[in-house]
Amino acid sequence: METKITHIAVVSIPAFSHQASIVEFCKRLVHFHHNFHVTCIFTTIDSPPQATITFLQSLPPNIDYIFLPPINKQDLPKGVPLSLQISHAVSQSLPSFHHALQSLCSSNNPLVALIADPFANETLEIAKEFNLLSYIYFPPSAMTLSLFLHLPTLHEEVSCEYKDYKEAIHIPGCLPIHGNDLPEHLQDRSSLSYELILERCKRFSLAHGFLVNSFSEIEGERVSTLVKIGKKPIYLVGPVIQTGASIELNKAECMKWLEIQRPKSVLYVSFGSGGTLSEEQVNELAFGLESSGQKFLWVFRAPNVSANALYLSTSNDDPLQFLPDGFLERTKGQGLVVPNWAPQTQILSHKSIGGFLTHCGWNSTLESIVLGVPMITWPLFAEQRMNAVLLTKGLKVALRPKFNDNDIAEKKEIAEVIKELMLGEEGHGISQRIEELKYVALSALKEDGSSTRALSQFITDIENFLRHKV
Ligand code: UDP
Repeated sequence: METKITHIAVVSIPAFSHQASIVEFCKRLVHFHHNFHVTCIFTTIDSPPQATITFLQSLPPNIDYIFLPPINKQDLPKGVPLSLQISHAVSQSLPSFHHALQSLCSSNNPLVALIADPFANETLEIAKEFNLLSYIYFPPSAMTLSLFLHLPTLHEEVSCEYKDYKEAIHIPGCLPIHGNDLPEHLQDRSSLSYELILERCKRFSLAHGFLVNSFSEIEGERVSTLVKIGKKPIYLVGPVIQTGASIELNKAECMKWLEIQRPKSVLYVSFGSGGTLSEEQVNELAFGLESSGQKFLWVFRAPNVSANALYLSTSNDDPLQFLPDGFLERTKGQGLVVPNWAPQTQILSHKSIGGFLTHCGWNSTLESIVLGVPMITWPLFAEQRMNAVLLTKGLKVALRPKFNDNDIAEKKEIAEVIKELMLGEEGHGISQRIEELKYVALSALKEDGSSTRALSQFITDIENFLRHKV
C-alpha cells in the first residue's frame, strides 16, 4: 500500500536568523517523520540573504522551498524601524503568498497545514480560507511568546509608557521584568510599530497551536501557565540550532588562529547577523577588549547609529578602517578581528573559546548554551533585553555590563566584566552552570528527550486531526 505523504508549508520573513531557525525545525520534523513533506515559503526584500542561500544548499529531499517575488527595498517606507519594514514587506507579499498557497493546495499532494513565523501571521487568515490547520513557529523564547500573548491584557492594564511603570512587569510564568527591558517596538505606545505589534498579538488567536524554539527544562513552567490561560497546545521543540551549510567567510583565518590558542582562553565577540554599534561604542569596546588583556575574536562591522543597520542590507566597505588608530597593531597576538561575518557555530564549538560577548539574539543564545560557552550579554534590539534577563537572573549563565545614562558601556566596565567572566570566581560559577545546562539541552534533543516528545506529540496531533477530518 502506498504511504500517504503529509504535506505542510512554512512561511518565514526576510531575516536570515528566522529563516534558518524554521528550516532547522523542518529538518528535525522530516527526520523524525519520513512521511512529512515540507515546502518553505520565503518572503524576500530585494534578494534573499546570501547566508540563507548557502544554508539552503544542504536540505534533505523532503524539504523544498519557494522565494516569493522580491519586494523592492526602495518601495518600503524609509527611516522607520526594522520591524515596520519587515511588516510592510510581508503585507506586500500577501497576494503572491495567496497564489503560492492556492497552487500548493491544488497539487497532487495537497497541503494540510501552514506553520507561520510570528511576524508573518497575517498568512494564518489565508490558511483559514483554504481550510488548513495553522501553527506559529516561534524562533525566540517562550518568555517572548508569553509577552506577546499577554500584550493585549497588559495594554489594558497599564496606561503609561512601560518604561515609566514604577513596578516590575509581570508576564505570566516569567521573571518580573523592568519596562526598559521590553522590546524597543513596545517603548512608544503612540507609534505605528506598537499598533502593528498589538494587532499581530491579537491575531495569534487564529493559530491552532505554537511551536517554540526552547526546551521544557528552562521554560517549561512558563508554558504550563500559558497553556492554562490560552488553552492551546504549545510544543517546546528546541533547542533548534544551525546545522546546515554556512557562509565560509573568514573561516580558514578564524579556525587557524583558534588552533594556536590555549583552551578556553578566547572571548568571541559578535552581534548577530545584522547588529551594529555606534562609533563611540565601537571605540569603548575596542579599548575595553584591549585593556582586559584577554584574547578575543571580534566579528567587526562598520559603526552605525542604528543598532540593526545591516539586517536588511550588506556592506562591501572594509569596516576595519573604523577601528581606533593603531588598535590592530597593538592587539596583534592578543586578538583577531574579522570583517562582517564568521562561522559562528564552528567558532563556539572550538576548544579555545572560553566566553561569548553576545547581543543575545535567541539563536546565538541557544548556540552558546548547546555548546557550553559562558556569556556576556549585550542586548541591542527586539526581545534581546528579555533574553539578557533570562540569562543573567534566571539561568545565571551570563554577566551583564552596566551602560551609562547615554546607553554606552564604558571601556573600564567592559574590561572588568570580561576579566570576571574569563578569570574571576563569578565566571567560574557560570562555567560550571553552563556546562550542566549544555547536557540538559542536549538531553532534551535525544530520542526520549522532552523536545523530541513534544515534536512527536505535534505530529500525533496533526495525524489525529486529519483522521477525524476524513
Ligand atoms: N551568524 C553567523 N555568523 C555571524 C553572525 C551570525 O553564523 O557572523 C549566525 C549565528 O550563528 C546565528 C544567527 O546568525 O545562528 C544569528 O541569529 P540571532 O538570533 O542570534 O541574531 P539575529 O541575527 O536575529 O540578530
